[in-house]
Amino acid sequence: MDNCIFCKIAKGEIPAKTVYEDAHVMAFHDIAPKADTHILVIPKTHITNLMTVGERDWPVLTHLMNKVNHIAAAQGLEGFRLISNNGTKGSQEVMHMHWHVLGGDQLPGF
Ligand code: AMP
Repeated sequence: MDNCIFCKIAKGEIPAKTVYEDAHVMAFHDIAPKADTHILVIPKTHITNLMTVGERDWPVLTHLMNKVNHIAAAQGLEGFRLISNNGTKGSQEVMHMHWHVLGGDQLPGF
Protein backbone atom coordinates (compact mmCIF):
# COMPACT_ATOMS: atom_id res chain seq x y z
CA MET A 1 0.00 0.00 0.00
CA ASP A 2 1.32 3.44 -0.93
CA ASN A 3 2.68 5.54 1.92
CA CYS A 4 2.63 2.65 4.39
CA ILE A 5 5.94 2.65 6.22
CA PHE A 6 5.79 -1.05 7.12
CA CYS A 7 4.91 -2.00 3.51
CA LYS A 8 8.04 -0.08 2.50
CA ILE A 9 10.11 -1.95 5.10
CA ALA A 10 8.65 -5.25 3.85
CA LYS A 11 9.69 -4.34 0.29
CA GLY A 12 13.18 -3.27 1.39
CA GLU A 13 12.53 0.34 0.40
CA ILE A 14 13.20 1.57 3.95
CA PRO A 15 15.97 0.01 6.06
CA ALA A 16 15.21 -1.91 9.22
CA LYS A 17 17.21 -3.99 11.65
CA THR A 18 15.73 -7.25 10.44
CA VAL A 19 16.00 -10.33 12.66
CA TYR A 20 13.78 -12.70 10.65
CA GLU A 21 12.27 -12.78 7.17
CA ASP A 22 10.53 -15.27 4.96
CA ALA A 23 8.08 -15.00 2.06
CA HIS A 24 5.17 -13.91 4.30
CA VAL A 25 6.54 -12.46 7.53
CA MET A 26 9.20 -10.02 8.64
CA ALA A 27 10.55 -9.20 12.10
CA PHE A 28 12.72 -6.20 12.94
CA HIS A 29 13.79 -4.09 15.90
CA ASP A 30 11.44 -1.30 16.93
CA ILE A 31 13.06 2.05 16.20
CA ALA A 32 12.11 3.33 19.68
CA PRO A 33 12.35 0.29 21.95
CA LYS A 34 10.14 0.17 25.04
CA ALA A 35 11.88 -2.87 26.55
CA ASP A 36 15.33 -4.49 26.59
CA THR A 37 14.20 -6.46 23.55
CA HIS A 38 11.49 -4.94 21.37
CA ILE A 39 10.83 -6.64 18.06
CA LEU A 40 7.98 -5.93 15.64
CA VAL A 41 6.57 -8.85 13.67
CA ILE A 42 4.55 -7.98 10.57
CA PRO A 43 2.80 -9.73 7.70
CA LYS A 44 4.40 -8.60 4.44
CA THR A 45 1.00 -8.11 2.86
CA HIS A 46 -0.90 -5.04 3.98
CA ILE A 47 -3.40 -5.91 6.69
CA THR A 48 -4.50 -2.85 8.64
CA ASN A 49 -5.35 -4.41 11.99
CA LEU A 50 -7.55 -6.95 13.75
CA MET A 51 -10.57 -4.67 13.24
CA THR A 52 -10.38 -5.21 9.49
CA VAL A 53 -8.96 -8.72 9.28
CA GLY A 54 -10.81 -11.14 7.02
CA GLU A 55 -10.92 -14.85 6.29
CA ARG A 56 -8.46 -14.34 3.41
CA ASP A 57 -5.86 -13.21 5.96
CA TRP A 58 -6.04 -16.29 8.19
CA PRO A 59 -3.25 -18.26 6.46
CA VAL A 60 -0.68 -15.49 6.82
CA LEU A 61 -1.75 -14.75 10.40
CA THR A 62 -1.50 -18.40 11.34
CA HIS A 63 1.97 -18.44 9.81
CA LEU A 64 2.91 -15.27 11.70
CA MET A 65 1.74 -16.66 15.05
CA ASN A 66 3.62 -19.86 14.34
CA LYS A 67 6.85 -17.89 13.95
CA VAL A 68 6.62 -15.57 16.96
CA ASN A 69 8.04 -18.00 19.52
CA HIS A 70 10.95 -18.88 17.22
CA ILE A 71 11.69 -15.18 16.66
CA ALA A 72 11.62 -14.56 20.44
CA ALA A 73 13.81 -17.59 21.16
CA ALA A 74 16.32 -16.46 18.54
CA GLN A 75 16.67 -13.22 20.54
CA GLY A 76 17.60 -15.28 23.59
CA LEU A 77 14.27 -14.70 25.32
CA GLU A 78 12.92 -17.33 27.69
CA GLY A 79 9.54 -15.59 27.71
CA PHE A 80 7.96 -12.56 26.14
CA ARG A 81 4.97 -10.22 26.11
CA LEU A 82 2.99 -9.97 22.87
CA ILE A 83 1.06 -6.75 22.27
CA SER A 84 -1.16 -5.76 19.37
CA ASN A 85 -2.62 -2.26 19.14
CA ASN A 86 -5.69 -2.08 16.93
CA GLY A 87 -7.28 1.09 15.61
CA THR A 88 -6.70 4.69 16.60
CA LYS A 89 -8.73 4.15 19.78
CA GLY A 90 -6.47 1.17 20.53
CA SER A 91 -3.25 3.21 20.44
CA GLN A 92 -2.27 2.02 16.95
CA GLU A 93 0.05 4.54 15.29
CA VAL A 94 1.23 2.57 12.26
CA MET A 95 -1.77 1.28 10.32
CA HIS A 96 -0.13 -1.93 9.13
CA MET A 97 -0.68 -4.87 11.48
CA HIS A 98 2.28 -5.54 13.74
CA TRP A 99 2.86 -7.52 16.90
CA HIS A 100 5.15 -6.12 19.56
CA VAL A 101 7.40 -8.82 21.02
CA LEU A 102 8.72 -7.44 24.30
CA GLY A 103 11.30 -9.17 26.43
CA GLY A 104 13.72 -8.58 29.26
CA ASP A 105 13.33 -7.04 32.70
CA GLN A 106 10.94 -4.22 33.58
CA LEU A 107 8.43 -4.82 30.80
CA PRO A 108 6.01 -1.94 30.28
CA GLY A 109 2.73 -2.57 32.03
CA PHE A 110 -0.76 -2.68 30.71
P1 AMP B 1 1.79 1.15 17.40
O1 AMP B 1 1.42 2.20 18.39
O2 AMP B 1 1.44 -0.24 17.89
O3 AMP B 1 1.26 1.42 16.02
O4 AMP B 1 3.37 1.18 17.35
C1 AMP B 1 4.10 1.47 16.20
C2 AMP B 1 5.53 1.16 16.53
O5 AMP B 1 6.30 1.24 15.34
C3 AMP B 1 6.19 2.09 17.55
O6 AMP B 1 6.67 1.32 18.66
C4 AMP B 1 7.31 2.76 16.76
O7 AMP B 1 8.46 3.00 17.54
C5 AMP B 1 7.56 1.74 15.67
N1 AMP B 1 8.13 2.27 14.43
C6 AMP B 1 7.69 3.31 13.70
N2 AMP B 1 8.45 3.48 12.60
C7 AMP B 1 9.39 2.51 12.63
C8 AMP B 1 10.46 2.14 11.77
N3 AMP B 1 10.74 2.83 10.64
N4 AMP B 1 11.24 1.09 12.12
C9 AMP B 1 10.99 0.40 13.24
N5 AMP B 1 9.97 0.68 14.09
C10 AMP B 1 9.19 1.73 13.79
